[in-house]
Amino acid sequence: MSEMIKILVDDVARKTELNLNTINSLRKVKTRCYMAYHVMLIPTLGCPSKCSYCWSSEEGSPVMSIETIKEVVKWLKNFRSEPVTFTFHGGEPLLAGADFYRKALPLLAEGLSHLKPAFALQTNLWKITPELAQILAEYNIPIGSSLDGPQELTDLQRGKGYYEKTMRGYEIAKASGLKVSFICTFTSYSVKFREDIFNFFLENGLNLKLHPALPSLRSEDPGKWALDPEEYGELLVYLLDKYLENMSRIELMNIDHLCKCVFTNRGTVCTFVDCMGDTFAVGPDGSIYPCYRFVGMPDYVMGNVHDHPNMEDLAQSPAWKLMFQFKEYVDQNCGECNYIKFCRGGCPYNAIAPTEGEVKGVDPHCTAYKRIFKEITERWEKEFLGGSGMPMFGFPSEPARDARPGVMAIMLKRL
Ligand code: SF4
Ligand code: SF4
Repeated sequence: MSEMIKILVDDVARKTELNLNTINSLRKVKTRCYMAYHVMLIPTLGCPSKCSYCWSSEEGSPVMSIETIKEVVKWLKNFRSEPVTFTFHGGEPLLAGADFYRKALPLLAEGLSHLKPAFALQTNLWKITPELAQILAEYNIPIGSSLDGPQELTDLQRGKGYYEKTMRGYEIAKASGLKVSFICTFTSYSVKFREDIFNFFLENGLNLKLHPALPSLRSEDPGKWALDPEEYGELLVYLLDKYLENMSRIELMNIDHLCKCVFTNRGTVCTFVDCMGDTFAVGPDGSIYPCYRFVGMPDYVMGNVHDHPNMEDLAQSPAWKLMFQFKEYVDQNCGECNYIKFCRGGCPYNAIAPTEGEVKGVDPHCTAYKRIFKEITERWEKEFLGGSGMPMFGFPSEPARDARPGVMAIMLKRL
């Protein structure tokens, strides 16, 4: 009997060591994928679309000048020294036109070459032309666009004609070799059609990132389209299963990141790290904000690129202090949570904006985050301890109940 126990103990030790070694080396690879220092450039808050739940566009917004881009370059020259990612966001950033990008991209890329700048762009693609696509392709800029699912549903939520205009732009972008991924906003209405939406992206070979509709602070009925946090949590679990069934056919970015957060024990997207002090946004007039989500809200201006402020200058602003107040709140109030290391209280904008700039709670999607993190953690523990058909303790495991890959497959996937 004691010989049998020794065999069992050796077997566990061997497997555990093997798993831990593998996991530790893979963790090192995976943690390289998040670049903290991020500057969002908002050339305008104007947008030709009229999405029902929009909270980030403004009619009559000015367009950023090339002089402001030159000031951005001067401002960032000695601001920080690590690699930076620039994301053009809006409103609709392509309203700035081809000439803006033809000048702005080399100014940023060459003027800040010591920061090895990477670029990204978030656009509805309506204004893309072959000329603009060519300029963006020269800098290998990944594009994020938005579709809410099949044409009828997208047009219902984003306005008639939206789908066709975006798909037309998608074809132009593709023809220039640009990589386009889509953000799909799930609302209290569209969540009922989650299967149709997932199948739409799958069948059309489109990658997907989901976004829960937030209460729109610019609407008379802010909560009308907002996705309830409980429903958001269930949606994430549903999509985790759909992803596992179809991993070779689609990329579902949120699920990739949620699994990697659990695996690496740290946030891999801005929502799940302390973004304050690492993320900045520049509005059309050069005003500096903590994130694109605050652009156009005067209370959140931290400085202006024309003044070339350093970190200490920005830290004097009430907006900076408020963001750090949120961080302290999270440390105090999420301390007992199992997921604090890779959740960090969620998005400060989601938490602060609806309470008119007071820190009264964490991200209202906390319920959803807990639900999905628990699900992934439990599945992972089960797989790690010998589920998913792996033999354990020298005995054959139970017959596999289903042949799908487990969450480990997503954790180990290269992004
Ligand atoms: S405020 Fe929210 S969206 Fe903006 S960088 Fe922070 S976590 Fe991301
Ligand atoms: S899941 Fe909720 S309680 Fe836990 S860290 Fe995130 S916001 Fe805080």
